[in-house]
Amino acid sequence: MDEHVAFLNEQVDRHHAWFSKSLPMIASENVISPMAREMLLTDFGDRYAEGLPHERYYQGNTYVDEVEDRVIDLMKRIFRVRHADPRPISGTVANMAVYFALLEPGDIMTSVALSHGAHISSAKFGAAGLRGVNNVNYPFDVDRMNIDVDGTAKLLRLVKPKVAAFGQSVFLFPTPLRELQDAFQEADCHVWYDGAHVMGLIAGGQFQDPLHEGADVLTGSTHKTLPGPQHGILLSDSQDDKFVKRLQRAVFPGVVSNHHLHSLAALGVTLAECLAFGRDYAAQIVRNAKALGQALHERGVKVLAERHGFTESHALATDVAAQGGGAKAAADLEKANIITNKNLLPWDTSPVKPSGVRLGTQELTRLGMKEAQMREVADLIARVVVKGDAPAAVAEDVAAMRSEFNTVHYCFTKDAEAHRRWRIM
Ligand SMILES: *Cc1c(COP(=O)(O)O)cnc(C)c1O
Repeated sequence: MDEHVAFLNEQVDRHHAWFSKSLPMIASENVISPMAREMLLTDFGDRYAEGLPHERYYQGNTYVDEVEDRVIDLMKRIFRVRHADPRPISGTVANMAVYFALLEPGDIMTSVALSHGAHISSAKFGAAGLRGVNNVNYPFDVDRMNIDVDGTAKLLRLVKPKVAAFGQSVFLFPTPLRELQDAFQEADCHVWYDGAHVMGLIAGGQFQDPLHEGADVLTGSTHKTLPGPQHGILLSDSQDDKFVKRLQRAVFPGVVSNHHLHSLAALGVTLAECLAFGRDYAAQIVRNAKALGQALHERGVKVLAERHGFTESHALATDVAAQGGGAKAAADLEKANIITNKNLLPWDTSPVKPSGVRLGTQELTRLGMKEAQMREVADLIARVVVKGDAPAAVAEDVAAMRSEFNTVHYCFTKDAEAHRRWRIM
């Protein structure tokens, strides 16, 4: 075999071997089902489609159009919306479409601050800033790990943004959209909810339903709590055709040409699975996150928002400043094969010295873990972070625990063989 290809194969094999004995707990990741994974390897990944189904610029899209129609139908059904666009190729690209559709350079957008958990795409040095948008951040209630409702209402009335943006990457509690309804009216702004992290929870009827609580547009990733291929989506329930058209044109020809048709097909499978299993899945994710928060707390790990039940989502924010900081904790956990990431906490002043570690339960839930396993996971994390046990020793117990949880749940299975063939573990 060619040396380069052999090298690449070896690295991927090693990655698979590593992850098969690890606890994947990064809050923005998930594992795709075997049948969705098959779609990623089809000829759809070799083809081009531009524009809308049945109005393409290229020939050869007969069956692509059928697939895209079905994907759109599934999105509309699951999210109960009038407009569903599966073409953004990632969450950030969906967000860029919102910037192009609804904002001009110099316009004001209000949003959550980065240190309060927002995503880089809404920051000054991210897509928002590069669009020339002037960003004003909401006041934040650190105790509740949520925007301060009264302060936010005041801010909206004062600055009258063109767009009021919500949504976070450290997203523990639902955004109080209903409580801000009057302020939105007075500010006469568009309301945009970036649900990248929580699309699977929204789809499963957990967390909140932003488009039926006052948001005009919802963007998201399809690979975080929604356990699909790496891709993006944009949704709206607006009855204003002109508004929808603006969003549509911003996606194509604005920020996407071909929309990665293998991902589109895989997304269809994920959405079908979501329709069948999404409620159970989302509910278990949240139960697991709450159980993990409680168990970590009992084992001496400081978990934020303790007085409010730690979380209402898939995610937890821990404060490990007293144990050497987020960078050290995340690196030690990685040596124990517990995969997490360091994260800024609201009071952190240095972006390079975050004092937190962010955790997510969505992938462990996908592997079949429940509350009892969350207590075991808390034990393993606390041994590394609190007790200072040697990570290599903990890694052995991580592998032993993980060995019982190595198939994907909440999905269709063609047969056991397909599962074995396609599961990465
Ligand atoms: C992950 C994330 C995104 C970006 O999604 P990609 O699919 O990685 O481009 C956007 N917004 C928020 C809040 C996120 O957490």
